[in-house]
Amino acid sequence: EVRVRFAPSPTGNLHVGGARTALFNYLFARSQGGKFILRIEDTDLERSTRESENAMLKDLMWLGLEWDEGPNKDGNVGPYRQSERTDLYLKYAERLLASGHAYKCFCSDEELEAMREEAKAKNLPPKYNGKWAKASNDEIEAELAKGTPYTYRFRVAEEGNVKINDLIRGEVSWALDTLGDFIILRSNGQPVYNFCVAVDDATMKISHVLRAEEHLPNTLRQVLIYQALGLPLPKFGHVSLILAPDRSKLSKRHGATSVSQFKDMGFLPQGMVNYLALLGWNDGTEDEIFTMDQLIAKFSIDRITKSAAIFDNMKFRWINGQHLRSLPETELIQMCGEFWEKSGLLSSREGSFVEDAVHVLKGSLEVVSDAGKCLTDLVSYPLEESLCSLEVKEIVDDNLKEVANAILATYDTGELQKAYESGHEEWQKWVKSVGKSMKRKGKRLFMPIRLLVTGKTFGPDIGSAVELLYKA
Ligand code: GLU
Repeated sequence: EVRVRFAPSPTGNLHVGGARTALFNYLFARSQGGKFILRIEDTDLERSTRESENAMLKDLMWLGLEWDEGPNKDGNVGPYRQSERTDLYLKYAERLLASGHAYKCFCSDEELEAMREEAKAKNLPPKYNGKWAKASNDEIEAELAKGTPYTYRFRVAEEGNVKINDLIRGEVSWALDTLGDFIILRSNGQPVYNFCVAVDDATMKISHVLRAEEHLPNTLRQVLIYQALGLPLPKFGHVSLILAPDRSKLSKRHGATSVSQFKDMGFLPQGMVNYLALLGWNDGTEDEIFTMDQLIAKFSIDRITKSAAIFDNMKFRWINGQHLRSLPETELIQMCGEFWEKSGLLSSREGSFVEDAVHVLKGSLEVVSDAGKCLTDLVSYPLEESLCSLEVKEIVDDNLKEVANAILATYDTGELQKAYESGHEEWQKWVKSVGKSMKRKGKRLFMPIRLLVTGKTFGPDIGSAVELLYKA
């Protein structure tokens, strides 16, 4: 049975990287008829908060990534928060101690610090020197009698390799000689992260671990723990990073990075799911627009790419626009109305203004929050500005310049402004008369007019836009 998990640490917001990991796991589970499990990794008690956990659950729900088992949905392998599984970790630690795979280490902080210094002086990576690995029972009893604090260390073979066949990266292998025996239980009784994860994945019967590439070093330790417990390994797949367009690590300075920020900006869950799926996966064709059901039908781990994915805001917006336009218009009206009201652009939703506006703006929207800008662009009489804008001067080619000049002439006399301000009918009349006197129609007439009125070469139908102005 396919059982996968998403295991966030509740120390902040759900970011695009985590959301993509969750999505890939979800798609894999759904495409295989398996189970998607949510596990909260709150072993870092100082940084983990319930508030962050709740926010993450909310974001996952918003994206439509519903889990089959998790903190509020019991399967029979719970609890699903690491902070509630301590007894289990202790039990497994004792098991490793009994089988000789772990031992008690009584080294003091000073001793450990000295080991690190020594390694540093020799330009070697820090490694535990194995002081307590072969201690006799008497030596151990003596320390226990003195009440010396101790940790549990995992015994690592001094040589040899560990290999996995990664579902995405192929064979990955590690030499063991530099690793050193690592702590699984701290002297205060707190189990250590990698140990918890291995015990959890094993006891939750996880079949596939799909997670970010940055966890590869953890995988080595987790594999060793599995082996020591005599448990069959899950399959591992490490997904490559998501980078910013400048190929640096995606971070705050590149703009929004968390799911809730994109949600507040007016992105749709459908758009976000679609775009996240494309960060490191494709279906082998040029297709880029997918619903969740289509993704489930097409998803396969084989098509996850090994190279890093680039987070491209323009592409994300475009994809979102495709989903926005396929919404029923009533839904879009509701969303835009709410957005305009919230942002203070609209004092009341009475009358047909929102309907009319959405109808006019629909074609140029990619994200609901654009509706704010589109609307203010329309209602802020950009005439003066657009007349001076470079874009107008550059885009209007020689052929169209003639029209532009004629229109500019009517601007000077105030005629254009008057038509613009006195409503749809006047405006249409004015446009017609200009066309007639210039012997132009269609695009050759409308493009320069559009440019002059809006400063842009694209946008909603200009006649309807003008009409809208008088309702605003
Ligand atoms: N808790 C880890 C994180 O939030 C995930 C660990 C894992 O997937 O094994 O990055």
